[in-house]
Amino acid sequence: MRIFAPDFSENFRCLGGVCPDNCCRQGWQIDIDEAHLAQYRALPGELGERVRAAITQDGLKMERGVCALLDEDGLCPIVKALGEDGLCRICHTHPRFIEQYGGVREIHYSLSCPEAARLSLARSEPISFTETVTDEPITEPNEIDPDEYLALMQLRKFAIQLMQQRRIPIRDRLALLISFSVKVQRLLDGKRYGSIKPLCRLYKSADYRRRILTRYRRIRKRGASFLPDITLLRTPNALTKEFPRFLQKAVFTRNESTPFDRENEVNLEHLTVLWLAHYIPKAVNDGNAATKIRFAAYLTLCARRLCVCTGEEIAHISGLLAKEIEHNSETVSLFYKTFENPFWAKHMIAQLEE
Ligand code: SF4
Repeated sequence: MRIFAPDFSENFRCLGGVCPDNCCRQGWQIDIDEAHLAQYRALPGELGERVRAAITQDGLKMERGVCALLDEDGLCPIVKALGEDGLCRICHTHPRFIEQYGGVREIHYSLSCPEAARLSLARSEPISFTETVTDEPITEPNEIDPDEYLALMQLRKFAIQLMQQRRIPIRDRLALLISFSVKVQRLLDGKRYGSIKPLCRLYKSADYRRRILTRYRRIRKRGASFLPDITLLRTPNALTKEFPRFLQKAVFTRNESTPFDRENEVNLEHLTVLWLAHYIPKAVNDGNAATKIRFAAYLTLCARRLCVCTGEEIAHISGLLAKEIEHNSETVSLFYKTFENPFWAKHMIAQLEE
């Protein structure tokens, strides 16, 4: 088995009782997998009784948004007694998103976790990814088209490289990325995987990039209202009180000029890179890499606009986006669907005002 993960993966340690935004206090539904359910049912002693009392039909019981098992010191009694292996799969995995693509397991981190956000953003050097090979046998069958998968890996690598070209202003990198999403999708649709490498080479040419940016100049000069984005981001059941409040604030500042400030460039780069790395491979499920690239660019643009409108730190805003959008697979699928509409590619480019 090959394991793909960001370079900070080995350094991740849960902050436990000193975490400023503990995931056990978010009111999330925690389903317990069958194996752990059986283990908890057989658990002897006081801990066994406590754990069983906290199990409901919907998973672990929440008391006013806090996991009923959480001790006053902010630690989990299951971890204290049994170690991390005693945790059910969801708790053990969080804040990681673990995806399986045939013989490759990908590990990505949710920015809803303050420690994952710190490791992702409190750095100046570009984020890289590691691939390690383990002895774990590949047991699950898969229906992945190997040619399509390799093409996606190739275009992901290029999209990440493009976002890390620091000689190019971040707003231009994002404009080029959105343009790339349109062109590469045409190749994927026609199964012209062999043409992806030449396309990437084309985007490495300064001349070609200049031509694309010149073509976009008129759209970018017009600028874009944040209103369609606010409408899209409004989810009927917001998990946090802050998110709808911030969106409301953004409604009233939507016409303000929001120039890209140089200081935030590195953070915007890191965010886009993490999101591209996580979402592009998911195109193996529907053949549409463009919507995944646009989703990554969109989240970055929303994080930036919400920071400007609220004055909040980017780590905090991206954590909220993770909680409200990324943790709900149905919401994410709706976003993919939405970004099939070419309006959004143009709208995102218009947000990249010069
Ligand atoms: S949010 Fe992250 S650091 Fe905080 S308790 Fe959860 S896993 Fe640990």
